[in-house]
Amino acid sequence: MTAALIDGKLIAEEVRMQVKRTVEERIAAGKSRPGLATVLVGDNPASHVYVRSKRKACAEVGIESFGFELPADATQEQVEKVVRECNEDPRIHGILVQLPLPGGLDEEAVLNTISLHKDVDGFHPVNIGRLAQKGREPAFVPCTPAGCIYLLKKTLPSLRGVNAVVLGRSNIVGMPVALLLVREDATVTICHSRTRDLPAVVHQADVLIAAVGKAEMVRGDWVKPGAVVIDVGINRIEDPTHPKGSRLVGDVAFDEVKEVASHITPVPGGVGPMTIAMLLQNTLRAAELADKL
Ligand code: NAP
Repeated sequence: MTAALIDGKLIAEEVRMQVKRTVEERIAAGKSRPGLATVLVGDNPASHVYVRSKRKACAEVGIESFGFELPADATQEQVEKVVRECNEDPRIHGILVQLPLPGGLDEEAVLNTISLHKDVDGFHPVNIGRLAQKGREPAFVPCTPAGCIYLLKKTLPSLRGVNAVVLGRSNIVGMPVALLLVREDATVTICHSRTRDLPAVVHQADVLIAAVGKAEMVRGDWVKPGAVVIDVGINRIEDPTHPKGSRLVGDVAFDEVKEVASHITPVPGGVGPMTIAMLLQNTLRAAELADKL
């Protein structure tokens, strides 16, 4: 079997165009332009790249972005002050604090400072708590997990009753994606570094979400024939044949797994573009929520 490709780039583009149209309609109707604040602390090169691409994506759909940069030695109070000022600014509807924060800063306390109605990354403990509770609705759902579910819904008619295995239990991907799958009535198994006989557990999956951060860890013979595979991993590996001397791969050995799975996301071009598209969608939603406040 050669799996069908789940084209995250194309699907993300559709979402972005929809956001762009809705923003234009808002402006034409005399409503406010959605605004996103990005808060970047320190000089992690990857974080700078991510923030730059998020701000560029905002500009492309008519969302105004406000960049705040603090040095690596910024104090907890300085970071929280910036967030509090963004909470008060009516031009800003969403606040994104780029993670990870430099060591020494209390990440949970910073996230706690974000107004619930501006928490477009969905990491505020109250929003995550609501996600975990039956009958409660978070104001926002974290972007990468939301992107995974969006791709799955485009691929499968329903997630009800499917065996879903999530590889990874991080706060930003594994755990929230597992909570979202439960909300879709999937039967969910969460794996982590202490899981025994990982290949056998993964082999039960009708739907596999890999978010471990280990290059090409999931091999072809781990995967159940016909499974749908969503690869969240972004890992850089050396490759002397590549012009840059290195290239990006996922947590899944793509060439092996594509021969077994029914559908698979590529890396790059799968989940990555969806993360930004979901951020734009959440920022638009934040502006719509602000209309009603
Ligand atoms: P993380 O915080 O490092 O979490 C990794 C998880 O994988 C942990 O739960 C860990 O288990 C588990 N794990 C690590 N090694 C394992 C092993 N050998 N066997 C089984 N489980 C193992 O990573 P993350 O932030 O969730 O990110 C995961 C990957 O997704 C990374 O490659 C990251 O770059 C990528 N990512 C992509 C996007 C995107 O937009 N596409 C967004 C975010 C992250 P323990 O809990 O036991 O330590």
